[in-house]
Amino acid sequence: MTSSDRNYAELHLHLGGAVLPRILYSYLQRRKVDKSNLGAHELALSYLRKYPVYEKFERRLTRPCDTLTKYLEAHKIVEPLQKQEALPYFIYRLLRGAFVFENIAYLELRYNPYFRIPKGLPLSEARNQMQEVIQTVALSAQAAHKEFPIVFTQILCMDSRLPRETNRMIVEVALEMKDEVCAVDIAGPDEAYRENEEAILDNLKFAKESGLKTTGHCFETADGYFPKMLEFLDRIGHGIQIPLKHPKLLTQVAKNKQCLEVCPTTYFRTGTIKSYNELKPVFGHCFDMGIDITICTDNSAFHGVRLPLEYERLLTHGVLDFRQMEKCREAGFRHAFRWPGQIDQRRGAL
Ligand SMILES: [Zn+2]
Repeated sequence: MTSSDRNYAELHLHLGGAVLPRILYSYLQRRKVDKSNLGAHELALSYLRKYPVYEKFERRLTRPCDTLTKYLEAHKIVEPLQKQEALPYFIYRLLRGAFVFENIAYLELRYNPYFRIPKGLPLSEARNQMQEVIQTVALSAQAAHKEFPIVFTQILCMDSRLPRETNRMIVEVALEMKDEVCAVDIAGPDEAYRENEEAILDNLKFAKESGLKTTGHCFETADGYFPKMLEFLDRIGHGIQIPLKHPKLLTQVAKNKQCLEVCPTTYFRTGTIKSYNELKPVFGHCFDMGIDITICTDNSAFHGVRLPLEYERLLTHGVLDFRQMEKCREAGFRHAFRWPGQIDQRRGAL
């Protein structure tokens, strides 16, 4: 396979924000009439009481926020619905959309497995259930592959709000399931990073030293200044504040050959930027230093913006020209943790 068969590599997409509100709502309606799983049935009823019409549900999931912390709240609504028994339904539909509407060749889907198992389990039981979740995601993607041949792998997210031991367990599970999982990530509100910074660094270091690939959300908002994380990351989740506010760190990023996963629409949704013009220096400084940037959607279903449109908007707002756009598209394949094919460069002629 070459990347010319299909166009895009998506390296930063959260499972919570990858399933369209319409699909989530249809799932709730199915569960309402299906009593075979009483837990899921009751949960669906409680959601439908709160969101009696689809429009209300959609508005809640897609509303703009003024901070990252508020933005992340939407995941708390979706995560309880994405338990193991529902995952085949959602994975099939998200891969179908990625194939049909986005021309995706390669997808790294990320999520926190701990948030998709029942709360309060002892750690050993939690570990088993997380493994089952990961296995279910992998098998669902494999089953969908016949219809929608996307190269698919998983990234497990740690969370800045979770205790050190829980995040450590997520890394250990990633190590035990290397066929299904390509890397670990760290996500969550900035305030919790500051409170738990030492434990987060320790777990990232452990992941790196154990041979795992790593990416991490940092330098996304003006508050997300965590320079110590950089030495443990293969890629940087967002990282836009490095060129904008901390350009001295660019030398280190260039030397480490770290790629920035830039998700433009997110920054509007979190109130981090107000106009595309603010993104111009991000690309300008990085290109000047030879730092790669890949464009991603982060939570495309909450944004209503699929990957090709993220590229197109950067182009039409004059942030990138065609040649630079192609450079970012190729960087997606080059920095993918598991892309098995060649990288087609024919569009370099642009
Ligand atoms: Zn993200």
